[in-house]
Amino acid sequence: MLTMNDVLRARRVVAAHLPPTPSWSYPLLDEAAGRRLVVKHENAQPTGAFKVRGALNLLATLCDEVVTYSTGNHARAIAYAAREYGRKATIVMPAGAAELKIRAVEALGANVVLHGANMAGAEAHAQTLPGRLVSPGDEPALVAGVATAYLELFERHPDLDTVVVPVGSGTGAAAACLVAAAVAPGCRVIGVQSAAAPAAHDSWRAGQCVRRDNRTRVDGLATGRGFDGPQAVLREHLADFVLVADDDIDRARRLLALRACTQAEGAGAAGLAAVLARPDLMGSAVGVVVTGANATELELAR
Ligand SMILES: *Cc1c(COP(=O)(O)O)cnc(C)c1O
Repeated sequence: MLTMNDVLRARRVVAAHLPPTPSWSYPLLDEAAGRRLVVKHENAQPTGAFKVRGALNLLATLCDEVVTYSTGNHARAIAYAAREYGRKATIVMPAGAAELKIRAVEALGANVVLHGANMAGAEAHAQTLPGRLVSPGDEPALVAGVATAYLELFERHPDLDTVVVPVGSGTGAAAACLVAAAVAPGCRVIGVQSAAAPAAHDSWRAGQCVRRDNRTRVDGLATGRGFDGPQAVLREHLADFVLVADDDIDRARRLLALRACTQAEGAGAAGLAAVLARPDLMGSAVGVVVTGANATELELAR
């Protein structure tokens, strides 16, 4: 089980590579939400998403070549960290992965292998390759690294009564829960997922990991199954878990662009979508974590 010591150690590792991300309030966004929001800009990371924090922390402790599987932000995070440490990384992506996402990973110097029709196929192939296999969801060092974002948020805004975290595998929400319990125990952490890919949500409600179909357009939230490590933390600490429609997420992306001068991918806007969909669950000072910026051309056009 992770402790705050792991998070504080991770902060030293991460801070050697990344400055803290900003967190701002925007009056027109507050007006739309009917309360004070603090937007935490993990979309301002060099890879466009918070996952780079976890990757930097995990790879600091590994000395061999790493192998992982991902379609997007996890791939880019591992590739970025491998480059920082001068380490080799191989990323298996499903054969249909978006061209620009493949190129973003290759441009960081990682080796991309296209294999399988979906994430399960890519995962199965990654298991056959040499090197240390990195699971996107079941690595405590990833959670400790990601937790540094919440330490920054609570130190700057100790008055938050709610924080809303988009959930895929659940590392981000688990990290938020651990840090809130230690430094902001009055703050409720609420998870959000797309109703069209509810595996983590349903796992949390069921009290055990379940599998669900992915029918969402929102990449970062579509994992297909619950992950044991994060779910154990969520079962203990998460205050609530909201499902939103993909259309709600698109509206939230639009609001962030127009009222908070910021670009979010679908997953990055899910927190705001949850605030707008379920105001009854939210307090008067709400942290909204914009987890990522990497919208596809199609998403931006919509
Ligand atoms: C990965 C990701 C998420 C989900 O995070 P988990 O730690 O897998 O729950 C949310 N938003 C973005 C932008 C992501 O890349």
